Amino acid sequence: MASVARSLTTCIFCKIVKGEIPSFKLVETDLSYSFLDIGPLSRGHALIIPKDHAAKLHELPNEYLADAMPIAKKIAAAQGLENYNILQNNGRIAHQEVDHVHFHVIPKPSASDDEGLVVGWPAKPADKEDLKALQQELASKLSKL
Ligand code: AMP
Ligand code: ZN
Repeated sequence: MASVARSLTTCIFCKIVKGEIPSFKLVETDLSYSFLDIGPLSRGHALIIPKDHAAKLHELPNEYLADAMPIAKKIAAAQGLENYNILQNNGRIAHQEVDHVHFHVIPKPSASDDEGLVVGWPAKPADKEDLKALQQELASKLSKL
């Protein structure tokens, strides 16, 4: 069952959903709205937002999440994308600038760092005992959520 959509009068993405500020709309459903990013990392960079104000992913009801990914697939298909990133940032130090959940669809037309998402990936070898302890702790907590 759909939850009652929240909106904030100060939130730029809530204003876009309500048509109070303009956007380059792509597609819309009962639960989601998508549009072109005005500061694109590459041509075709799009955003999908829930029609419900939640700042971060874990605050958003599941039905909005379920609605968003099929739209990401459509936006990728409409552009014939083979290389692209789906990105969703939570929190300032994780690069979230707009505090209303949004999914980026970012075409990666070439390997150049000049277009599309450029990712830092500071991977390190894991300690197997630490992985085991973490797996047990998280699996236990997840089974109760
Ligand atoms: P994030 O850093 O994940 O919070 O991304 C916010 C994104 O929203 C950036 O890519 C901005 O270019 C984009 N953005 C901000 N305001 C608008 C707007 N009015 N219309 C379209 N995109 C916007
Ligand atoms: Zn909002």
